[in-house]
Amino acid sequence: MTREFKSLEEVEALDGYNADNLVVPEQYAGVEGPYHFEFEVKCRLRKNNGRPCGEPHKHGWVLRSKDGGKAMIGGDCALEHFGIRSDELRRDMTLVSNALDVERTRAAIQQRVAEGKGKLGELLIARAELANVKAELVALRDDLGPVAWTVLEGMARADDARVRVTGVINAKREGDEVVRDRQTRPIVLGSLRSVRACLPETIAMPSIALAEVIGAYQRAEAALLLVEKPKEMKAFAAVLARTGSAIGGSRQAVAAVRQFLENDFSFVCFAIEDRGARYKVARAAHHRRGSAQGMEWVKKWVADTEMALRQAHGVDRVEFNDSWRRGLHWSTRRPATRVGR
Ligand SMILES: [Zn+2]
Repeated sequence: MTREFKSLEEVEALDGYNADNLVVPEQYAGVEGPYHFEFEVKCRLRKNNGRPCGEPHKHGWVLRSKDGGKAMIGGDCALEHFGIRSDELRRDMTLVSNALDVERTRAAIQQRVAEGKGKLGELLIARAELANVKAELVALRDDLGPVAWTVLEGMARADDARVRVTGVINAKREGDEVVRDRQTRPIVLGSLRSVRACLPETIAMPSIALAEVIGAYQRAEAALLLVEKPKEMKAFAAVLARTGSAIGGSRQAVAAVRQFLENDFSFVCFAIEDRGARYKVARAAHHRRGSAQGMEWVKKWVADTEMALRQAHGVDRVEFNDSWRRGLHWSTRRPATRVGR
């Protein structure tokens, strides 16, 4: 049974330990374990002249000799001055180190799993909440339609939550002569909160993180049996260690989606060129806000809003498009829907 010694008392309590014992390579029988002290102890390796080495070391090994005696050798001396039995000692040191490593990982996993008994409940709640807001997000997408959703995702990808239209002041002519050029100005209708929440990864990333950790807890008992596979055990421990961040990431996503869902989406319709899609979005947005109106009312609302925009911004007409989101240059865009004179 190998172990790590953290105090001199632990070594002194060993059967066969005596402060006068020497480490004699020819008598070497095995490694009891490493020692790690806050202070230095003198190395007991017997030198050629028969006397102990005496070098001070904070770290080293407790060795066992053929007669059952135990003594301490410094870490450097074990590696460099063990003479003809060096290979044997190094091999044993590696085996003991690996075994202790496995034990430590196992203990860490056991502790993590014990702590995790309560965490599993929290993880499952987090997963359910994430599934809930995902369903609400899907419902919103179905309500607003694919055209609006593409606009929203474009805003999210561009990290620009402003809904904009273009106000146009017509060129002024006198006879055949243009006395003032056509002018355009951007008009910002408003900004959406947490627009990035509409992106698929907002839900997907925390879902994957949660699934990984939940799966790990569910396999915990079996994983504890992987004693002979230190790499797998460490990978497993690393997954469990992500419990907190998985729950935190999920809660953040849920909060962001909830904030996004509370937006007034009615003015998103003004970022849509296609008139039919614009009415559909306006109607769905009003419906979501508890105002179930017929299509005639919606068309009038859109027209009234357009007129109000023209008056408020002193422009002749308003162009509705999201071409700027698609990275198209103004001069290469398709003709926008024109409203007004
Ligand atoms: Zn030494």
